[in-house]
This record gives sequence, C-alpha cells and structure tokens, in this order.
Amino acid sequence: MSMSAEERKKRAHNYYLRNREKLLKKHKEYYQRPGVREKVIEYQHNYYKINKETIRKRSKEYRQRPEVIVHQKTPEAKERRREIKRRYRQRHREKVLEYDHQRYRTKTDYWKKWYLANREEIRAKQRQHAAKPESKAKKSAYTREYQAKPEVHERDLAKSRAWKKTPKGRRNAVYYNERRRARMSSVPGSFTKEEWLKVRDATGGVCPFCGRNVGLEKMSMDHIIPLSKGGTNYISNIRAICRNCNSAIGNRPYMYQTNEKTGKRERIYC
Ligand SMILES: [Zn+2]
Repeated sequence: MSMSAEERKKRAHNYYLRNREKLLKKHKEYYQRPGVREKVIEYQHNYYKINKETIRKRSKEYRQRPEVIVHQKTPEAKERRREIKRRYRQRHREKVLEYDHQRYRTKTDYWKKWYLANREEIRAKQRQHAAKPESKAKKSAYTREYQAKPEVHERDLAKSRAWKKTPKGRRNAVYYNERRRARMSSVPGSFTKEEWLKVRDATGGVCPFCGRNVGLEKMSMDHIIPLSKGGTNYISNIRAICRNCNSAIGNRPYMYQTNEKTGKRERIYC
C-alpha cells in the first residue's frame, strides 16, 4: 500500500499535533545537552552560508505578500511592530531590563555622545511626556507611595533638619516661614527673597535694637507695624532684627537703654 507525498505530509503533521507537548519537551532537553547548542548554531550558520541566496529570495517574497504587513513601511505596520515589541517587553520584563542595563553599562560613551547630539529633542520629548495629565497623576502617586515608606520619611526628615542647620538652609527657612505665616493670615502684600536679603544685609549683622553684632545669618524678620495692628506684609513693613529681640517684642513697642548702675542694656517698654 503506497501513500502519496501529500498524504505522508499530512500524517506527519497530525502526528506532530497529537504529540506536540512531548516533542517540544524532548527537543528542549536535547538542545540543553552540553555542546548541542553550539553545534546547532554552527549548523545554522553553515546552512545559511550555503543557501544564502535562496533564503533571502524566499524571505523577500514572504515579506512582499499583501497579508504580511509587519515588514511594510505603512503606519499600521509600524504600530504593529511596536505592539509586538511592547508585548515582548511585558512578557520578559526582567530579562529586557537586565539587557538594557548591560547595554548601557558597556557603552556609556556611546550613549553620552548620543544624548549630547540629541539633547534638545530628548528634553522636548521628556517635557511633552511629563506634561500629560496621566503622567502627572502617575508621578504624584508614585511620589506619595515612595515618601510614605517609613525609612524614606525618616531619611527625608533627617536631611531637612541637617539642611536647616546650614547657613543657606537657615536663610531659606526664615524666608519661607514668614511667607507661610503671612499667607495663612491673609495679610496683604508679599516680598521676594532678594528683597528680604537686601533689608537684612543693610544691617550688616548688627541688631538695630540691642546693638549686638549677631551676624547676618542670625537676623530674623520682624513686622515694623505688627500684623495684629493692621501692618502689611510688604517689604516696606519688614525689618531685620536679632532673634532674641524678635521673640521678646511681641506686639509692644519698646527700646533699649543702658542701665547706668549695672552697665547692662535693658529693654524699656513704651
Ligand atoms: Zn536684638
């Protein structure tokens, strides 16, 4: 009983379909044996070298079939290629990330050059992406989640405490505290950090009240006419005095006089 080529092919295919799992497992096991992988690759290379023309011709013919859109230059084909890539990245996330890192690490000079050559374009794209509402929402959700971690919260707190102890941090804190206080009490007027620094620096670090030279960094803001007495928060109503005097003043006007007997400077309330 003879079989036609067509029939043999069909039977073989049916056999494959019935035993697919088993065959795949067997192939995989064989491929993983030592030396097999190299042998297969070498064989494939040789096969390609010998049949280069035929393979190229066939694959070109395949790509040009109307139903094979993946290789075409149309927008749909481009989108399809992207989708395939996206799905691959999703499925093999760890692997792809590792690969990306590896590639980046081994070619840092290359990427640096690439970045410098395309900097404007890259930045524009980043800005565009960051401006999207969904990007913003994602970012703030991520930040919230990150900052809520106890260890991160602790670290940030320690950082900001340390920052406030530096001269610059102290200067900023003075400025922002005052601004916040004014905003919260809805007092008219505002001033800039530069305006405050100008007023402060004009004292030369000497408190106009007690006359002590406390240094620029230790000057604090004070309202000439207190906010509670209708003073505004314009720079014209702001003066720089030492912290000691500031905390002592409250709302009462007062001045300093040297005590004749003791030689000490005393505060005289009006
Ligand atoms: Zn003072």
